[in-house]
Amino acid sequence: MDSFQELKLNKSILEAIKELGFEKPMPVQEKIIPLMLQDKCDDIIALAQTGTGKTAAFGLPIIHKTDTKLKQVQFLIIAPTRELCLQIADDLKDFAANDKSIKIAAIFGGSSMDRQMQMIKQGAQIISATPGRLLDLINRDVVNLNNVKAVILDEADEMLNMGFKEELEAILETTPKNRNTFLFSATMPKQLLSIANRYMKIPLEITIGKRNAGAENVEHLSYFVHARDKYLALKRIVDFHPDIYGIVFCRTRQETKEVAEKLVQDGYNADALHGDLSQSQRETVLNKFRTRHLKLLVATDVAARGLDVEDLTHILNYDLPDELEIYTHRSGRTGRAGKAGTSIVIANLKEKYKLNTIEKQLNKKFITMPIPSGKEICEKQLFHLIDKVEKVEVDTEQVESFLPKIYEKLEWMDRNELIQRFVSIEFNRFLDYYKSLPDLKSPKDERVSDRVRPGRNDDRSRAGRSEYTRYFINLGVTDGLKPATLIGMINDFTGIKNIEIGQIEILKNFSFFEADSQYQTEIMDGFKGQYLRKRQINIELAEKRRSGSRANSNSDRKKPEGFRKSDFSKDRKRKFDNRDDKKGRSFSHGKKR
Ligand code: AMP
Repeated sequence: MDSFQELKLNKSILEAIKELGFEKPMPVQEKIIPLMLQDKCDDIIALAQTGTGKTAAFGLPIIHKTDTKLKQVQFLIIAPTRELCLQIADDLKDFAANDKSIKIAAIFGGSSMDRQMQMIKQGAQIISATPGRLLDLINRDVVNLNNVKAVILDEADEMLNMGFKEELEAILETTPKNRNTFLFSATMPKQLLSIANRYMKIPLEITIGKRNAGAENVEHLSYFVHARDKYLALKRIVDFHPDIYGIVFCRTRQETKEVAEKLVQDGYNADALHGDLSQSQRETVLNKFRTRHLKLLVATDVAARGLDVEDLTHILNYDLPDELEIYTHRSGRTGRAGKAGTSIVIANLKEKYKLNTIEKQLNKKFITMPIPSGKEICEKQLFHLIDKVEKVEVDTEQVESFLPKIYEKLEWMDRNELIQRFVSIEFNRFLDYYKSLPDLKSPKDERVSDRVRPGRNDDRSRAGRSEYTRYFINLGVTDGLKPATLIGMINDFTGIKNIEIGQIEILKNFSFFEADSQYQTEIMDGFKGQYLRKRQINIELAEKRRSGSRANSNSDRKKPEGFRKSDFSKDRKRKFDNRDDKKGRSFSHGKKR
């Protein structure tokens, strides 16, 4: 179909969509609009992903069919989230922009009920609603659905995933039996089929694209790691994709918060989206993400519902969803509008069977990738930087006046040295971090003897010699970290004196230290949630250095230069007395002796 003219929509609608720049119908519109425009039409199940133009597919015919003289609700759209509900209402208002007698109300939770009640009392003919608030208003007799001609269930599978089954059924029960029902969904789980069987009359089934198929241009990659290495793997994957703009999906609110906090601590533009946020906090986060001030949005499935952001380069599945069908929704958020997208799963070997199930659902294979090595990441970042230099636009006019002084200042350097230095400015962050970290091993590559084992029961510890665990900590010289402060924190946060400490390496922005493995749990737990001044401390298990660092035995262990353990009490006292954070978050904890 070449134009909307052929669809016989009202002139006012045709003008409105022309103003919106819609030139010809999208496939879902081509199929659905003529069916919905019929006087007596069938119910329809449309299997279509977001971004296919489905809002106009149902929106244009219902506006066309609205009886403007009747000031009663005639069409009801139910959607899973307030974002989607508002977006639908806004789109419909655009389509109806040339007919002021059509009133459209958005009804959703977390916002004043008075304003929404007013809209309904003013005679809204079309309502776009979330299930909870709508049912509330029905129960208060504010909304009357006796004159409803059709109900549209948008993203119906997501509504069920969010646990709205009962609300949906209660709402459908209050609408007239002879109404039409139009169901839009990306997938068709069993629960949804049972609703369709119960509330729809022999529906026509229309599939846009392949049924349950992931978007064609999405590539699916899997990275297998030990559960303990998941976060480190995430960082590596992100670092390996310098232009990444994506959503990191976690299963729980708590994990969402933790991952986002760690990413921020580690210098990434990231933030969390989860159910504990107020509406205004949620909007702030979403705006930052939409305007690309955030590169990574760490979210739960529920919180990300209805979030429609184009141009995402990656979807990162930090956890696989419990309901594997949700993977289709997640990955369908990238690879939109003909662009390429990548959906990444970070999993452990035990989850491999889940990937097999997803592969069958998608009818696509995952490509298993090795975790990028430090060298590969540094190389990628370096060439990204060089690419930026090549492509940057120089505003000669603005820069010209500064150039003579700059040339003069840099005159003593030759071309090679100049290049090396400017590259290092940005590149050092990655070099510093990765040069001292061993590469992550995928579980199948690893021999048991390579693992860090708690030493409490092992032979070496019984022989009176400690086994050390090596830790990474996100504090370094720039945070004022010294060996003495670090040992003080270990003592304080664990509440245990005399934990054997091995080698300490304090680097610019982070550090490594070794400590007796039998206290691994106490150290990991003790550091959790602690702060150094305003900086939240993040501690992770690091792999042992391959050589050199293990040479020190209990007795001959080299202490960090200029440091004796007995010096610490003095040092710590000084530090506590001078601390910036008088509220006592830094270094303070319940177990302090
Ligand atoms: P939807 O799937 O309804 O969220 O629509 C996805 C995007 O496509 C929205 O930004 C719409 O404004 C746009 N859109 C819908 N129909 C058309 C059309 N016929 N021509 C161009 N853009 C459209």
